[in-house]
Amino acid sequence: MDKKLHLISLGCNKNLIDSEVMLGRLRAYTLTDEPKSADVLIVNTCGFIGAAKEESLRTIFSLHEQRKKGSLLVVSGCLSERYKEQLMEELPEVDVFTGVGDYDHIDELVKSRKSRFSAGTYLINNEERVITGSNVHAYIKLSEGCNQQCSFCAIPSFKGKLKSREIASVVKEVENLAKQGIYDFSFISQDSSSYLRDKKIEDGLIPLIDAVEKISGVKSARILYLYPTTTSNALIKRIITSRVFHNYFDMPVQHIDEVMLKKMKRGAGAERIKEQLGLMRAAEGSFVRTSFIVGHPSESDEEFETLLAFAKEFEFDRVNIFAYSDEEGTAAYDMADKIPTKTLNLRLKKIENAVKKNTQKRLLEQVGKKVTLVIEGESSEHELLLGARRLECISEIDGEVLINESEVEGLKTGDMVEGFITERAGDKLLATVTKRI
Ligand code: SF4
Repeated sequence: MDKKLHLISLGCNKNLIDSEVMLGRLRAYTLTDEPKSADVLIVNTCGFIGAAKEESLRTIFSLHEQRKKGSLLVVSGCLSERYKEQLMEELPEVDVFTGVGDYDHIDELVKSRKSRFSAGTYLINNEERVITGSNVHAYIKLSEGCNQQCSFCAIPSFKGKLKSREIASVVKEVENLAKQGIYDFSFISQDSSSYLRDKKIEDGLIPLIDAVEKISGVKSARILYLYPTTTSNALIKRIITSRVFHNYFDMPVQHIDEVMLKKMKRGAGAERIKEQLGLMRAAEGSFVRTSFIVGHPSESDEEFETLLAFAKEFEFDRVNIFAYSDEEGTAAYDMADKIPTKTLNLRLKKIENAVKKNTQKRLLEQVGKKVTLVIEGESSEHELLLGARRLECISEIDGEVLINESEVEGLKTGDMVEGFITERAGDKLLATVTKRI
């Protein structure tokens, strides 16, 4: 058959897993990086905020311009789910539309060349997937949807309510991947610390950690997307005592001013958030990342200054900073006092500078330390420099380590090695490899 498939996965790592399931369903196709030669082109879109929506549309139009005659252009994912009627009317270029409910049926949609929007959100349950991006690391989805009501967020409107996988389903997937040589796992969802709450189980991540620790071949793991109101001290302590899960804490806080936290409907107050972050920071060798939203409706200069002061005071290893995006269907969309773009951009600049200072300070503190690294292949800097990451980190979001010296020959992608951080170069680290692990 030798039909060719070109797939672009946009947005978050949860979307990436759904794309990998589609690759699993379309295994009969040969993957191509060349849109011009593809028989089927798929864009798995993101519909979270303005910038992501624009990128999705740009990608659709770009593929349409490049596609060959008779090829099939498929648009799936969150943008398609959120704006199905509008897109189907306004984008005649697209042959097949689907949303977030049919990833495991993509082969049928491609065969029938018909659009389909099944009710509900697809949640992987050990369907075959093609792991992309690494031969030793895989993202594992814990749940879909979200029960939180953050004022600025449209995700619950198109992904629905929280729906968790059974622990047995997660364990089976991790076991299968570990048998294929994957030894490092990142557990993700929209709201990971609420895992199993839809099944009336509090702190569902604790029994999950217990179960994953028993799986042979799992050497390393972390959890992303903790939510303040459902992240207990017991969970933080369980992560700290785990022999497999790193002291890697990803908890988007979005803001720290009491009034703004209430307006954002975040549920937890500043003191509780600071207590949680304090426990995380105090953990040995901890890596703490978060995200801030700047410019939420009615954010006063004082409230922004509170966030800025906190960004200077608390030394996060990494912070994602988002400009507020006015999303219809969210509570914030109907709020008054939208922040003028000029003010918003000024605030963004201030907080980006503050965060950058701390991130670089944290990186500098790594110099001289003995670390465990995972070789990731050719670096992004130079073909002669190997790229790597600290075992506890994810290179796409936590930064790259450049290997400029090695006492070990024949290093390959996926190798776990020991070494020393020798230097900081901008937001990257340089290291010397001393031995293979
Ligand atoms: S936790 Fe809040 S920001 Fe995250 S998906 Fe749920 S509603 Fe959106």
